[in-house]
Amino acid sequence: MSPIARRSTVQVTIGAVRVGGAAPIVVQSMTNTDTADVEGTAQQVKSLARAGSELVRITVNSAEAAAAVPHIRERLDQMGVPVPLIGDFHFNGHKLLREHPACAEALAKYRINPGNVGRGSKRDPQFAEMIETACRYGKPVRIGVNWGSLDQDLLTRIMDENATRAEPLSAQQIMRNAVVLSALESAARAESLGMPHERIILSAKVSGVQDLIAIYSDLAARCEYPLHLGLTEAGMGSKGIVASTAGMAVLLQRGIGDTIRVSLTPEPGGDRTQEVIVAQEILQTLGLRSFLPLVTACPGCGRTTSTVFQELAQSIQTHIRHRMPEWRREFEGVEDMTVAVMGCVVNGPGESKHANIGISLPGTGERPVAPVYEDGEKTVTLKGDHIAEEFQELLERYVARRFNKKPARETAAA
Ligand code: SF4
Repeated sequence: MSPIARRSTVQVTIGAVRVGGAAPIVVQSMTNTDTADVEGTAQQVKSLARAGSELVRITVNSAEAAAAVPHIRERLDQMGVPVPLIGDFHFNGHKLLREHPACAEALAKYRINPGNVGRGSKRDPQFAEMIETACRYGKPVRIGVNWGSLDQDLLTRIMDENATRAEPLSAQQIMRNAVVLSALESAARAESLGMPHERIILSAKVSGVQDLIAIYSDLAARCEYPLHLGLTEAGMGSKGIVASTAGMAVLLQRGIGDTIRVSLTPEPGGDRTQEVIVAQEILQTLGLRSFLPLVTACPGCGRTTSTVFQELAQSIQTHIRHRMPEWRREFEGVEDMTVAVMGCVVNGPGESKHANIGISLPGTGERPVAPVYEDGEKTVTLKGDHIAEEFQELLERYVARRFNKKPARETAAA
């Protein structure tokens, strides 16, 4: 679907998911449960996968967490959730992988942060042990650099070199160079330890948008590994969404990024799946992938002064997201459907005619009278207090009529 040339030429296989090369850009996410809680973590992984996360990362930070990993895998398999699990290791990953072989086996990929594998003389052997374990189990790795935990020895070396320059670089440029070098040097070391080239993914996360763009542009120009793209510590709510979108959109538009994660801080008690929805929406609005029907809704204005229009738009959006897992299993191309939900006659009929199916309220007064358009033709006018429910029924019938049923074998496998 994407007309943009991709830069990574290497393809990495993680379970049944391919990242890089000609593969579609993969959406991933991370749990925030205690991994030692098998049921809680399995349920959150399931809901992330159901929302569309194609890879899910879990924290593996203790013996209890490592011991839980194979049971989480087992529980997911029981529930029919094949999503590959990625282990996120810091500080003690070498030890946990050594002491918990079932964990090493159950994970589909290991994330290694070269700044957090150990200090001083311990760093190299501990990094080597993790890579050797990954090689032994045939697992790919992500060399995941984060500027908040940058390899201090490397940073010192770069700063010392900078001090000898006639025109020293700025502190920001040094940081950017250090992040990129840490990723590239760690990947080269992993290969020298026997890790195949096509089992390495790189990431270099920072929390500033301009830093992200500069670092990933540099990284993409200097290597062909698939790149995991994401802004770290993006923040809460609209700030996190806007910052992630601003940084990633520029890079994705240039063909940089093979898998993405949107690191949003959820509201207390908020839904973790929001990061999956935002990641999908970034890719879909850029025209890089299709995940679910796009709802075109006007913002409302002085013609929509009650909550009728907002409630209608929200209920239709929610219905589509809720039904999409089944629709996707059953119907060919349903993710490309467009739906319009409009507030009044000014742009409502026009926008509705452009969509596959659209509904338009009358505007001023917001009487519950709403013409429905299907494939450009007005088919019915809904009236009364149950317009949303009736439109949902029309939507179901439209999907069943307009999109071809997938073959039974494919439906079962999806
Ligand atoms: S379509 Fe009508 S209600 Fe919606 S923003 Fe435009 S004028 Fe306002």
